[in-house]
Amino acid sequence: MNRTLPDGLLAVSAAALAHGVTVGDIDPRALLAETVARFHEVHAGTGGLNAFLHLDVDGARNAATMVSARVLRDDPMPLAGVPVAVKDNIATLRLPTTCGSRILGDYVSPYEATAIARLREAGAIIFGKTNMDEFAMGSSTENSAFGPTKNPHDDARVPGGSSGGSAVAVAAGVVRIALGSETGGSVRQPAAFCGVVGIKPTYGRVSRHGLVAFASSLDHIGVFGRTVDDAALGLESIAGVDPLDATSIDRPVVGYRDGMSVESEQPLAGIVIGKPVEYFPDSLDRNIRTLCDRAANILQSLGAEIRDVSLPHTDLSIPVYYVVAPAEASSNLARFDGVRFGARKGEGSLREMYERTRSEGFGAEVIRRILLGTYVLSAGYYDAYYRRAQAVRELIAADFTTVFASGVHILLTPTTPTTAFPLGAVSDPYDMYLSDIFTATANLAGIPAMSLPIGRVNGLPVGGQLLAAHFDEARMLRVAYALERALGDEAHR
Ligand code: GLN
Repeated sequence: MNRTLPDGLLAVSAAALAHGVTVGDIDPRALLAETVARFHEVHAGTGGLNAFLHLDVDGARNAATMVSARVLRDDPMPLAGVPVAVKDNIATLRLPTTCGSRILGDYVSPYEATAIARLREAGAIIFGKTNMDEFAMGSSTENSAFGPTKNPHDDARVPGGSSGGSAVAVAAGVVRIALGSETGGSVRQPAAFCGVVGIKPTYGRVSRHGLVAFASSLDHIGVFGRTVDDAALGLESIAGVDPLDATSIDRPVVGYRDGMSVESEQPLAGIVIGKPVEYFPDSLDRNIRTLCDRAANILQSLGAEIRDVSLPHTDLSIPVYYVVAPAEASSNLARFDGVRFGARKGEGSLREMYERTRSEGFGAEVIRRILLGTYVLSAGYYDAYYRRAQAVRELIAADFTTVFASGVHILLTPTTPTTAFPLGAVSDPYDMYLSDIFTATANLAGIPAMSLPIGRVNGLPVGGQLLAAHFDEARMLRVAYALERALGDEAHR
């Protein structure tokens, strides 16, 4: 069995599947049956990839039947019958939402995330919830309380994280589209490691209502797709202002797929693409550099102008991220106390109950972040660490503003400094944090960014990252689509 190349309906694009369902050529229940069969093939048993935490086959069957009924009523559904996997920190009815943590156990949310409601409205079938680093803290999915997810390209390696399960669900061909979340790179980094497309939209483009908060000013819901088109279709379906998220922004959602055409010979004429020198340090893996150079040459041949640019505060992004993110996390995770949320432990005093609930419920990385966050927010350290980090965050964001104001439209960088590493290989938390060195900047600045496959090194996928100015997703996707088309099979070779 090929772990990364499905056949039958699972090899068909999400848009074509939805079209097939809409015109009556594809029965959504048959599509679901193939999805379930593929799930059993790649997921179950020893040697399974452990990408999913919960499945709702009955609920999915009912939803498929409802889609058929809506088709008969000519109800337009851009994702008619398309199965979608969802990271387990996005609230769903029926299915548990555990955030990969023991503390939430089998918690089922009483309400659903806006992104999920929008997917259902678009005709998608919510197929299952995917494995993740506990509370989205990590870069390998090894921090899940439910065991690590494995990379379908080499099951001795990590899939990346924290949205590793969603990346693998797409890479192994179970679904064409999956939702993940991003605080510092958790969609783009696993997309790169697994050879799929991953998008983090502009902060505020997709409602965070129903996304369990990690670091609210950095959190985003993001989308995985097998191809740029799949991911664009998924994003289109969930984007838009939401009265339930005050940080969502009231701007019309552009039809992201409309501009994706390679009809002309120079589809990227007039687009200026910057290569930031800070993302190509001398220490960068030579093979990853070569693949990025090849991508830049292709973009140039498609009509884009390539320019070297500088984002001078890039090297401060990891230190700033690891002050801001834990600070916000220490506050957001206070609600898991055995009273409001979380499986209660201990029958003694209130204090003993809090202590046991939190120390037994949270894993080591989550505890580390809470300690770090509480420290940087405490009296006497707030100004030295937290306030300072916020000031430097402004400088990082200003670097992007300056570059985009100088006439550069899109930036091209590697997504990650390495390919997928072996399970258990990175034991020092600080080394793990460095996985996000090229991705955390976009979360700090709130700009859209994405990863797409640009080739392989020793058989393992390499991701190229594109970044754009706030709300310029459409142009970023146009560039990605043209590059994907021009690379063809090379992207996976
Ligand atoms: N790896 C980063 C962290 O551990 C980012 C995680 C994320 O984007 N959710 O915090």
